Amino acid sequence: MEETLKILVVEDDEVDRMAVRCALTKAGVQMELSEVGNGNDAFSALSTSAYDCVFLDYHLPDQDGLTLIQQLRFSEIKVPLVVLTGQGDEQITLQLIEAGATDYLSKSRISPESLAQVLRSAIRVYRAEMQADLANQQLRETHEQLIRKNQELERQQQLIQMQNFKLSEASLLKSHFLGTMSHELRTPMNAIIGFSQILLRPKFGQLTHQQADMVERILNNGKHLLMLLNEVLDFSKLEAGRLDLKAEIFDISKVINLAVAEMRSLADAKNLSLLVQTDLQNPLVFNDPVRIKQILINLLSNAIKFTESGDIWVEVKELPANRVAIIVQDTGIGIAPRDFKRIFEAFRQVDQTITRKYPGTGLGLAIIDSLVRMMGGKIFLESKLGIGSMFKIELPRQITLPTGAGEPPPIQGDSDGVFCSAKNPHQSSSQSRKAPIGYPKFKL
Ligand code: ADP
Repeated sequence: MEETLKILVVEDDEVDRMAVRCALTKAGVQMELSEVGNGNDAFSALSTSAYDCVFLDYHLPDQDGLTLIQQLRFSEIKVPLVVLTGQGDEQITLQLIEAGATDYLSKSRISPESLAQVLRSAIRVYRAEMQADLANQQLRETHEQLIRKNQELERQQQLIQMQNFKLSEASLLKSHFLGTMSHELRTPMNAIIGFSQILLRPKFGQLTHQQADMVERILNNGKHLLMLLNEVLDFSKLEAGRLDLKAEIFDISKVINLAVAEMRSLADAKNLSLLVQTDLQNPLVFNDPVRIKQILINLLSNAIKFTESGDIWVEVKELPANRVAIIVQDTGIGIAPRDFKRIFEAFRQVDQTITRKYPGTGLGLAIIDSLVRMMGGKIFLESKLGIGSMFKIELPRQITLPTGAGEPPPIQGDSDGVFCSAKNPHQSSSQSRKAPIGYPKFKL
């Protein structure tokens, strides 16, 4: 069913009004037609009712069509407007369209067909314009929303930046506090250790068995506490970027053997066998021997701590591309894959409860991780719960010191890719090439 159109004819001439009415009726337009004879009445009709189309005579008794169109647009009254022009009005048509008329038709051309066509096209154009207006309006609103959201995001970003700044300040304060505290606590701790060692010497008087046992406990606990303090101090230095590597050329197998010897009593106390295999053609490396030993001691103390029975193996071997690997493997409790990454974070332990079975600061692996990074190396971890763990550290044979730390001494390679120091041209000692001890190559 065709829709009924509400049409307003604004025309003072009765004959012309009739011509429009007849033409529309003949064209078969379903309509509700209203007629007014001047601009004022047209304005009030359009202000109070909505029309689908207006046919507007350009020459009205009280004003011309252009003024009425401008009035309507000013009052934001939107309606399809067809201006009916007389002879000689041709030059005004462009102005009418610019002012907001939808179309125009010369009165001399009024016929059912022309009027129906101009009516349909005016309504179509108007509706398309309305849709475009609506789309534009929505676009504007979306744009404004985006601007508001952007402003909100910028505000949040500033907030996050401020919080980040506060956090890094707090973290710096924490590192400073940890560093100062552990440094201050080390002095009395060294005194406790020193004096208990003196007490244990027979030349200061023989202690009873019970007294000696108590002093030994003080000594061991003091040493343990000192180790914990050193860990905290190292960590705070690493965090603040104040820990420097003191690199030199040394025999890595000797340092490994020293670390293993230091840890052997702990392994023996738990009935764990501690096996070492060094498989190096050239044991010389350019690195910080104290930190290499610290890394191995940390890995070994973990391996011993988390292993109830079985073996612990240490292997040092050469890798292609001038690198060496230090491997520590145990038959301990193992680590679940979901914890692989976490355990390298500071103060992180698989068991975080107060009542946990295994003591520790949770700093050992974080320190190792930072040291290995500083050395330009990598850590690999393989582990299976209930089977054991393998920590593998790959390091360049010659570390690169930060700029300004001085040039490393020249280490030259021969044609076989075996390295020796130019300063201290040792070849690998036969001692470091121990016979294989049956290092298990089990895949975890
Ligand atoms: P800590 O030993 O002081 O707890 P670490 O940073 O050295 O701190 O180790 C972090 C955690 O990683 C340990 O608490 C433990 O849960 C896990 N872990 C480290 N080494 C082993 C290992 N060899 N076997 C099983 N778990 C380990």
